[in-house]
Amino acid sequence: MTALGTTKAKRGQIVYGEYELVQHPVGGVDRVPVIIAQGSKDGPTFWITAGIHGGEHAGVQVIHKLITPDLIKNLRGTIISIPALNPAGLRTLERQAYYHDGDPNRLFPDGRERKLDPDKNPPSSLELAYGRLFDEIKKSANYFFDLHCMSPYSLSFVFRDRILYRKGDEAAKKRAEATSAKMEEMAQAYGHTLIADFSVNKYIDEKLHRSSTAAAASLLGIPSLTAELGSPYTPDPDIVRASASGLRNVLRWAKMLNGDPEPINGIKIVDPGFNTRRRNIARVTHPCVVHHLVEPGDRVRVGDPVVEMRDVWGRVIGILKSEYEGFIISRPRGIFFYPGQATLLMAIKDEEPLVGEYPEKFFD
Ligand SMILES: [Zn+2]
Repeated sequence: MTALGTTKAKRGQIVYGEYELVQHPVGGVDRVPVIIAQGSKDGPTFWITAGIHGGEHAGVQVIHKLITPDLIKNLRGTIISIPALNPAGLRTLERQAYYHDGDPNRLFPDGRERKLDPDKNPPSSLELAYGRLFDEIKKSANYFFDLHCMSPYSLSFVFRDRILYRKGDEAAKKRAEATSAKMEEMAQAYGHTLIADFSVNKYIDEKLHRSSTAAAASLLGIPSLTAELGSPYTPDPDIVRASASGLRNVLRWAKMLNGDPEPINGIKIVDPGFNTRRRNIARVTHPCVVHHLVEPGDRVRVGDPVVEMRDVWGRVIGILKSEYEGFIISRPRGIFFYPGQATLLMAIKDEEPLVGEYPEKFFD
């Protein structure tokens, strides 16, 4: 029977409960909320989570809007949902949990034996908790979506993870390719803009292989996507609606709902006709105030002016041009920049394979 923490699935019903995450030294426990929605007919199990970064709130509303009595009437299979993965961060409105110093979405397993260094802290309570939760995903998930937010006015889009496999392991390579192909289909069904994450080396550098979805895709072969839903904190209602529509379309693709896909309205969707990956661009050359000349969703060609650098009095001191073709994903927070800081996140042409080998010595 499908269960998570205190929540036990019931056919044809939505049930609510909790899962114990972290025990506090002063007594008390951080629990995450759990929703299990099960149709009356058998089908796959779809995990949908949100709120691992404490400032990212749109995904919580998407889950509230998605899991309704109406949905259950027609559902085949089960949705397991955790709308608040990082209760400490959500409580304090911080990206991190105050009991783990670091990004909470870099704590999922990476398949390596952990060698404890006596001079370093062992894994935190939060890392151990996400490790346990990962075992639950492994037990039941056929598909997985994790909902995030990017920055104010950013596009609503899907990050597609690179899937890694061990060199020389042909079966693992085949599984990685099959998982990646399913992820492409799933992203097309969702219907928002699609962008691959950083290239393989930077991906591991940034510990992105330890994000929730990357770990599930690479280690478990579960098709998994990270959706970015525009502004952190205050959600854009159009993006919330469009994400709920997109997820229902993914459920239709997974044969968990009947009917034709519904249209995705009210948001910008960009398809440049080639695969893209993210890159931070337009690094300022002087300390300056930035005036952006392009907006999220704009197509950009090599040489297009993208940013005007001004001094604080307003005098133009330079123009930054794009070195890439692609489109703008988002502008970072604020307008005051020191030299070397990037002023735009762009989707650039991606010719790297979507599956790749773990680096040499990764598992040594
Ligand atoms: Zn996030």
